[in-house]
Amino acid sequence: CKFDYQAAPDLLKGRIILVTGAGDGIGKAAAKAYAAHGATVILVGRTIKKLEAVYDEIEAAGGAQPAIFPLNFESATYKDYGEMATLLEEEFGRLDGILHNAGILGSITPVEAYNPQMWEQVMQVNFNSALLMTQALLSLLQKSEDASLIFTSSSVGRKGRAFWGAYSISKFATEGLVEILADELENVSAIRVNSLNPGATRTAMRQLAFPGEDPRTLRTAEEIMGTYLYLMGPDSKGVSGQKLNAQPI
Ligand code: NDP
Repeated sequence: CKFDYQAAPDLLKGRIILVTGAGDGIGKAAAKAYAAHGATVILVGRTIKKLEAVYDEIEAAGGAQPAIFPLNFESATYKDYGEMATLLEEEFGRLDGILHNAGILGSITPVEAYNPQMWEQVMQVNFNSALLMTQALLSLLQKSEDASLIFTSSSVGRKGRAFWGAYSISKFATEGLVEILADELENVSAIRVNSLNPGATRTAMRQLAFPGEDPRTLRTAEEIMGTYLYLMGPDSKGVSGQKLNAQPI
């Protein structure tokens, strides 16, 4: 575990890093933390206003000029990810990291009663979109000397729990993809692939899942950034196929 990891100020200097769900919650904190450590961040998400606000905060803090890439993972197709790859190739020529972070909770419901459309929607946003984006962008990651792919998991992606339905399954699928990719890329590329469970964090999604909880008892997204920085930067070279936690659970 790397809860207390202290990142060098220039840890990510010159790196090009894409963050999904960068407009809010953990993704927003990660985009800002990566930029504060020298990265040029590509902010991907569905609400342009939120992405613009993060863009402004990064610029105001003196970070490298970010890029905004609006995309709705519910409706994006393989073609959209292909176009994304072409644009990023033209603009940056390579990618040094992706944090797959965007996600939705869906319903907290027994499997028997789970609405199938909702199930599909959760799988689409939490898993299929990350798979399609990775397929499209892998060749850009291959052009980096030291690339890191981080997929966001959850405690319920490592052990099933009643009523967590599609959300839980989408995270199990994510863990599976991490194992497969890490195995496929070992020895043949400089890309490491890991899963990261943020643990209970003070965001809108957590509040939705646990409405009775006092958010002040939870760590903020800013407080769990150590492992996000560690996994994205060169100190985690050689670490691949691992399941990490961003805070004690
Ligand atoms: P938030 O709900 O605060 O943020 C989720 C982000 O994903 C938002 O930026 C949101 O954009 C984006 N997003 C949602 N749907 C789409 C879509 N269809 N297309 C594009 N972007 C989308 O969640 P958290 O920050 O709490 O969660 C981040 C990740 O961490 C998720 O993968 C979650 O499963 C995981 N996680 C969180 C925990 C916690 O305690 N918070 C615990 C365990 C795991 P917009 O704001 O525009 O809707």
